[in-house]
This record gives sequence, C-alpha cells and structure tokens, in this order.
Amino acid sequence: MRLQTEREQVVEYCRKLGASGLSPGTSGNVSVFDAATGLMAISPSSMDYVLLGAADVVVMDLSAAVAEGARRPSTEAGMHLACYRARPDIGAVVHTHSPQATTLAVLGWDLPAVHYMLGLSGEATLRCAPYHQFGSAELAAAAVDTMGAGYACLLQNHGVLAAGPDIGHAWALAEQIEYCAGLYLRARAMGEPRILDDEQMAAVIARFSAYLAQR
Ligand SMILES: [Zn+2]
Repeated sequence: MRLQTEREQVVEYCRKLGASGLSPGTSGNVSVFDAATGLMAISPSSMDYVLLGAADVVVMDLSAAVAEGARRPSTEAGMHLACYRARPDIGAVVHTHSPQATTLAVLGWDLPAVHYMLGLSGEATLRCAPYHQFGSAELAAAAVDTMGAGYACLLQNHGVLAAGPDIGHAWALAEQIEYCAGLYLRARAMGEPRILDDEQMAAVIARFSAYLAQR
C-alpha cells in the first residue's frame, strides 16, 4: 500500500476530528502530502471516522487523479490539492466546520489577533474567503488566495481551512482557530476586545517560526 505512514496519519487525525466535536458528522476532512512522490493521502467521502482504516484512505496525485484507493475521495479534495500545488511548504491540511469559527464565517468576518496562539497561522489576522459552493474549483482558488502566505483562512458560510508543514501543526492550528474564535465572540458580546497589534504579532510569529525550524 502506498503512503502507509501518511494514510495512518489521516486515520489518526480523522479519529481525533470525530472525537473533538470540531466538525459535525463526517463534514471535516484531513490530508497529508508526501513531497517525495508528489502524492496526497486524503480521507474518503462520507465515511464514519470510527470505522476508518488505512485502506479506506484515498491516494491522489496533484492532477487530482486517484493513484490508489477504492473509495471516493473527500468532496474537498480539490481544495486540499490546491494548497499543495500553490505552497511547497504545506505538508498537511485539516478542514473543519468548527462551530465558533464558522459563526464568524457566517458573519463574513475576519478573526483578529485576540490571542497570541493565532500566530500559529503565520498571520496577524485570519481572513475570511468569499463564499463559493462546496467542492468547487472556485472555492479552492478563493481559499488559497485568502490564505496568502499564511497557513489558514475562514470560508464564508462554510468553515475553516487550516494547514501546516505537518499534520501536527495543521491540527493544532484548527484547534487554536476554534479557541480564538470563541474568545472573540464572547469578548465581542461583553465589550470591545483588545487586539494584539502587528508588531506584537510579528514577534510571536517569529518565535513560532524559530520553534518550527528547530523541529
Ligand atoms: Zn466543508
């Protein structure tokens, strides 16, 4: 079986996703990219993650052809592939419909730096991509464009795209985005949240980058 390690990572993080409550039902999806072969391992469409095994994970190349796997790939496979095509520094992608971040996406709002952990995204502000239909090439293009040089964005009326050099980073970012979105919503309900400025966030991002470089 090709991409055994990456397949197992997809299974492990799909199980985490299912248990975390970050995405209802089978709405989230996970992929890991292997730069050496140019292949992506991605979760299958509409499969209960409790039942998922490595053999169910679909392997695709960058042209979106299935290289190995009997199941249909996630409907958002195009969005995952667009990330890997555009950004050689991205090695994994996690997509969720996590409720608090998606609340911001429903409002079409960006998420400002209410907490330094948002710096895991590589940007001071998490921007919201305009709405396009799920699974469409337009959505994939808008997500990559909105992500810019960072690792994440919100998707209007849809959810969250979080990426990283590896699956551990992409997952941590998806969790932190949900945490920060919750902080922002509660703080906005109570008053006017203080937002970290660009200089403060640049210092945080530099420290996260140095930490990443040491791994
Ligand atoms: Zn989705």
